[in-house]
Amino acid sequence: MNEQLFDVIIIGGGPAGLTAGLYTSRAKLNSLLIENMLVGGQVMTTTKVENYPGFPGGIDGPELVARFHEHCQEFGLQIVNGEARQLRDEGAYKVVTVDDRDFRARAVIVTTGAEPRKLGIPGEQKLTGRGVSYCATCDGAFFRDVPVAVIGGGDTAAEEALFLTRFASKVYIIHRRDQLRATKTLQDRIFANPKIEVIWNALPEEVLADSKGVCGLRIADKISGAKRDLALEGVFFAIGVIPKAHFLAEVLELNSEGYILTDAECRTSMPGVFAAGDVRSKLLKQIATAVGDGAVAAIATEKYLDEL
Ligand code: NAP
Repeated sequence: MNEQLFDVIIIGGGPAGLTAGLYTSRAKLNSLLIENMLVGGQVMTTTKVENYPGFPGGIDGPELVARFHEHCQEFGLQIVNGEARQLRDEGAYKVVTVDDRDFRARAVIVTTGAEPRKLGIPGEQKLTGRGVSYCATCDGAFFRDVPVAVIGGGDTAAEEALFLTRFASKVYIIHRRDQLRATKTLQDRIFANPKIEVIWNALPEEVLADSKGVCGLRIADKISGAKRDLALEGVFFAIGVIPKAHFLAEVLELNSEGYILTDAECRTSMPGVFAAGDVRSKLLKQIATAVGDGAVAAIATEKYLDEL
C-alpha cells in the first residue's frame, strides 16, 4: 500500500463491509477495508447458512465468506489487518486510527458488526476457554460424548444447540422463558432432536468448576426459585449480541443499546460517515440485510463524494 489517503475506508470485514467494499471498488473509488480478525465476521462461526438466497441446501459460513472475499479482490479492494480505535473528523478528511497508524479518507463506512453478550454470572469469565464458550462452531468438537448446555432461546442458541448434538452426549437449552424466540424451523428441529432437552423458565446462576474446568451449571427456576445443579462439561452462552461501536460513542450518535443511528441511506450523524450491517440500529440482523445495507451505504457514499 503506497499511500494512506483513500476515497473511502470501510471499518469491518463482515458481509456488510465486504459488500460495501465490492461496490465502492467496482465504482473505482480508492477503497480500504480494515478488519481486526479474519474477514467474514460472525458468519465465520456459522456452520450452515440456510437463508441466504442462491444456495439451495445451504452453504457453510466460511465458504460463503471466501466467495465474498474473492469477489472483492476481483475489483481490487485493499484490506489491512488491525483494530480501528478512533475516528476523527478533520474537515475534508476523516482519520481512522488503526492500532497506531492513521489512515485518511474522504468518507468512511462503519460495518463493525456485533459480538456475543456476556451474562456476567460467577464462573463465566474465569472459565472462558476451560469449558465456557461463545462459539459452538469454534469449540464444539472439544466436547465429545459429554453433556453441555446452551444458554439462550434465540436463533443463535438454537443453531448452536443443534450443532453441538454432533459431538455432545446431551445438550441442555437453558431458557429464561417458556417459549423460544428462535424461528419456527429451528424450533421444530430442536423439539425433534432426542439429544436436546429444553429447561424452561430457568435462570443460570453460576458455572461450577473442578480442577479440570467446567463441571456443572447451577440454575434457578424462575417461578419456584428452586435451584438445581446440572452436571456437564461445557457451557455455551448465546444470549444475544452487543454492537461494536463503543470506540465511536464520542463522535457518532448511538441509540440507548449502543447501535449507530442512521437514516434510510445509512448516513450517520457525522456527514461523510455511513454505517451498515449489525452495528446499525435496525429491525432485522441477517446476512441478507447486511449485504443490502452494504450496497446502500456504498451508493450513498458515492453520491456524497460526487456532491463534495
Ligand atoms: P437474540 O435473538 O437477541 O436472542 C437472545 C436470547 O437470549 C433470547 O432468547 C433471550 O431471551 C436470551 N437472553 C438475553 N439476555 C438474557 C439474559 N440476561 N439471561 C438469560 N437469557 C437471556 O440473539 P441471537 O440469537 O444471538 O440473534 C441475534 C440476531 O441475529 C437476531 O436478529 C437473529 O434472528 C439473528 N440470527 C439469525 C440467524 C439465522 O437467520 N439463521 C442465526 C443467528 C442469529 P428472551 O427470548 O426471553 O428475550
